[in-house]
Amino acid sequence: GAIHRFSAAPAAPPPIQPPVEVKYTKLLINGNFVDAASGRTFPTVDPRTGEVIARVAEGDAEDINRAVAAARRAFDEGPWPRMTAYERCRVLLRFADLIEQHAEEIATLETWDGGKTLEQTSGKEVPMVARSMRYYAGWADKIHGLVVPADGPHHVQVLHEPIGVAGQVIPWNFPLLMFAWKVGPALACGNTVVLKTAEQTPLSALFVANLLHEAGLPEGVLNVVSGFGPTAGAALSSHMGVDKLAFTGSTGTGKIVLELAARSNLKPVTLELGGKSPFIVMDDADVDQAVELAHRALFFNQGQCCCAGSRTFVHERVYDEFVEKAKARALQRVVGDPFRRGVEQGPQIDGEQFKKILRYVKSGVESGATLVAGGDRAGSRGFYIQPTVFADVEDEMTIAQDEIFGPVQSILKFSTVEEVVRRANATPYGLAAGVFTRRLDAANTLARALRVGTVWVNCYDVFDAAIPFGGYKMSGVGREKGFYSLRNYLQTKAVVTPVKDAAWL
Ligand code: NAD
Repeated sequence: GAIHRFSAAPAAPPPIQPPVEVKYTKLLINGNFVDAASGRTFPTVDPRTGEVIARVAEGDAEDINRAVAAARRAFDEGPWPRMTAYERCRVLLRFADLIEQHAEEIATLETWDGGKTLEQTSGKEVPMVARSMRYYAGWADKIHGLVVPADGPHHVQVLHEPIGVAGQVIPWNFPLLMFAWKVGPALACGNTVVLKTAEQTPLSALFVANLLHEAGLPEGVLNVVSGFGPTAGAALSSHMGVDKLAFTGSTGTGKIVLELAARSNLKPVTLELGGKSPFIVMDDADVDQAVELAHRALFFNQGQCCCAGSRTFVHERVYDEFVEKAKARALQRVVGDPFRRGVEQGPQIDGEQFKKILRYVKSGVESGATLVAGGDRAGSRGFYIQPTVFADVEDEMTIAQDEIFGPVQSILKFSTVEEVVRRANATPYGLAAGVFTRRLDAANTLARALRVGTVWVNCYDVFDAAIPFGGYKMSGVGREKGFYSLRNYLQTKAVVTPVKDAAWL
């Protein structure tokens, strides 16, 4: 039939034994690895097999209290906010060097804990983490205030000060990159940090946090608490001693943490949330290229990207050819052990996401979309899913509205630019969009009309350190990366002094 079944189960050969030992499983508080106050631990699981990799200290409210106290002390009394910006810059540069020296070990841990392909973690993500740290190291000694004019005889200085203790909650889909995007700017600005990692992927952050101390970070400046959302995450979000909160994850949880921040001390909150990003293929497109780019926009990272191009809008004139080729490309996609060379797609993060994705596939079939590829699990163990493609998807179907967060492409047909703009924008999300066309006027119209934080024209998933990233609408609040992320971690103070002749200031 039309539905592709895997003849050779991709997970069938024995999983490759990762050549790395798990060294750090405790909480990092005040520069020391310590057990949770409760003494409890939780398992972190290899998504290739469902087997336990290691047991990790399970932080909860009590540990968050300890970590915030350490960060508070490091901010109020410690050297970090008081040293020269150049010294902070050099710590971050040394950290980037250490990341490169340990790149293989870090990438291996990241692949083992999260199921991402080693080619991706080792070839792209670990280098991006080092690049990002150097980018923020470069900012550290270029952050400064202003002198602004006043009507009266006043000298007005505007100082940019670190905001204090930053609480950061990160997800499992890009554990190290999220570490870099959040910890980098916070430290460059002279803040101290309590980071709550995702319960699915606690390992890599502990490893690199240790390197950061090796690079010269004073104790208490970065504290890492592994643990669950409703306990450790909620305690951090509602803590009276936290001056700023940065969160990445689902829109539902984003609402919870914003409310916790509001009910406690009104700490400012930045949110990077979900998406249902359109990828728009115009009628002049080279269909082979469009298929390849749309495929990558959706299937990258097992489809577990907040900015996944999860609504593939294709112009009616190229639609049939596109669907045929998108199907062929999905059937070709190499699914298997993420440690193997040439593998494009590893397992989903855990059993919960795995089941949720298969429920969405079922809902797609039931709502009348045409399943042209995949639709089932791949192999017989671990959390692998076949690359799945639906054609004839309609806007009101659940698969066109919800964030599936898996390898499921939905193809929708359109006929005019006005129509596709209206339909692409008809979602509560507004994270990103892809536009594929050779016509400059169409690209310009779409780039301006789409209500999203990033428009990729004839490319997708380009994440340079300097490019701001964030969402319109319910995809988020604020921007990370680039110069924009510094604003999240700085306070603004006006210092007003009378002077004789203000005109010359
Ligand atoms: P989530 O939003 O629940 O988890 C993200 C982080 O928030 C984790 O560290 C988690 O421990 C923490 N958290 C959970 N509940 C919390 C609470 N009450 N208070 C404070 N922190 C809390 O996401 P998830 O459950 O891992 O995944 C569910 C869905 O979220 C996915 O299917 C996907 O749609 C979406 N998601 C989006 C992103 C993204 O980058 N935008 C990342 C991961 C997941």
